Amino acid sequence: MSERAETQGLDAQATIHVAGEWRDAVSGATREIIDPADGLGFALVAEGDEKDTDLAVAAARRAFDHGDWPRTPAAGRAALLRRVADLLVRDRERLGALESRDAGKTLAEGRVDIDCVADAFRYFADLVAGEAPGRVVDAGSSDVHSVVVHEPVGVCALITPWNYPLLQASWKIAPALAAGNTFVVKPSEITPLTTVALIDLLAEAGLPAGVAGVVTGPGHSVGARLAEHPDVDLVSFTGGLVSGTKVAQAAAPTVKKVALELGGKNPNVVFADACATEEGFDTAVDQALNAAFIHSGQVCSAGARLIVEEPVRERFVAELARRAAKIRLGRGTADGVECGPLVSEQQRAKVEAYVDSALAEGAVLRSGGRRPEPSEIRPAGGYFYEPTVLDQCHREMRVVREEVFGPVLTVETFRTEDEAVALANDTEYGLAGAVWTTDPGRARRVAARLRHGTVWINDFHPYLPQAEWGGFGKSGVGRELGPAGLAEYRETKHIYQNLTPRPVRWFAG
Ligand code: NAD
Repeated sequence: MSERAETQGLDAQATIHVAGEWRDAVSGATREIIDPADGLGFALVAEGDEKDTDLAVAAARRAFDHGDWPRTPAAGRAALLRRVADLLVRDRERLGALESRDAGKTLAEGRVDIDCVADAFRYFADLVAGEAPGRVVDAGSSDVHSVVVHEPVGVCALITPWNYPLLQASWKIAPALAAGNTFVVKPSEITPLTTVALIDLLAEAGLPAGVAGVVTGPGHSVGARLAEHPDVDLVSFTGGLVSGTKVAQAAAPTVKKVALELGGKNPNVVFADACATEEGFDTAVDQALNAAFIHSGQVCSAGARLIVEEPVRERFVAELARRAAKIRLGRGTADGVECGPLVSEQQRAKVEAYVDSALAEGAVLRSGGRRPEPSEIRPAGGYFYEPTVLDQCHREMRVVREEVFGPVLTVETFRTEDEAVALANDTEYGLAGAVWTTDPGRARRVAARLRHGTVWINDFHPYLPQAEWGGFGKSGVGRELGPAGLAEYRETKHIYQNLTPRPVRWFAG
């Protein structure tokens, strides 16, 4: 690997972690990691496959079956997770910059991501540290002692996407460790670098060798092998619907636990009353902009569908389009940049195809819809695309139904509350949605009727580590974060003790 890296001036790393050791791929294959701001390679990582995956799973299996970690008391596991959080804070600048370069987000977003990762480790540390050891059940007899306890599931396969690489990994790694599991993580092949860096921090915090494994490589080999592997007890996947379906199918024959965090097509419903004052109007527009365009819309919960009440539509969309056109696109580390590029050439081509199809189906372009001119802060080779507002959209359009995962906002309108709810629920997904209104009764009614895993009232995007995250419908199965996000990584065991055993005499003979 080092020879190729030297000739090409790349930063080379052995990125497969098995039994506490960093190694190259068994096949010797490598992959260049591209900076999406200029399209140039800047790092070289190991390109693992099924063989590397089998080695990593075997090590995690040994660590679970014979190692100390699953039997370490909760207080000890919590202490380690807190040390990891402290190390993340110490390395915030380094990791935030790495995330920014790898995923094409701004430096400010990269830093926020690392803060959120540290929060996830602290949250799950506190959750297990504060728990009762088991739930005593009233068996209705003083002759019986009955208790329900929770135990780690075993070896967990954790498969993550490229948009929030370390954050999505931490929502899996922190609860998996808090519950006492061992794991093998497979980061996205496009953005593996911060996940690789975290493994070193886990070791520095004192995690025993073998508990944490990582295999860098593609989904069709490493990811698919993890999902089907007979020695894996649980697979937790975050990514797109197509790959998630394949993971569920691959996992089925071995009947392992499966958690899926998939895509979204998230409605942002704006009632006219929310825009009745200048301040209300400005807030709703500003947040609609944020909902759709932060991280260039490459967010599972992006507010990609604006559903606005007819009387305020024209003014709302005009202001939104005016502000969208002013968003400063550029390399994430450049001064004053508000939005980075798309993650890859392929992702930009996908976005362009959606915009083309929308225009062919009758959508009206109000801003964006093209690649920006290169500039000092926008290298010509970068995968930039202008924030795009498409007006006059309707539910039959592909761009309204399917997840674009880019800076594209569609506009639909409604006249009644029932119509607003029907439009907002008219999606096969169900990850998140928002309602903007100053009427508290309407806010409660609409929130109750939305079929989405998170509903925001007069806000968009915030999440809390202590509150469950996940989707209805095809947005997934299971929940991350909150107590349910820990429960995913546990088996439940009922221990029933007969304190005065006697014969039953059911059979007479
Ligand atoms: P993706 O499905 O292409 O890839 C996700 C991960 O799965 C990658 O590591 C990939 O290598 C792996 N993979 C691909 N095919 C596989 C297979 N057959 N078996 C096993 N693993 C396989 O998704 P992406 O493009 O990296 O990420 C974008 C998607 O992730 C979007 O749909 C987005 O909505 C979703 N996402 C969801 C959440 C959430 O919380 N619900 C959060 C972030 C991203």
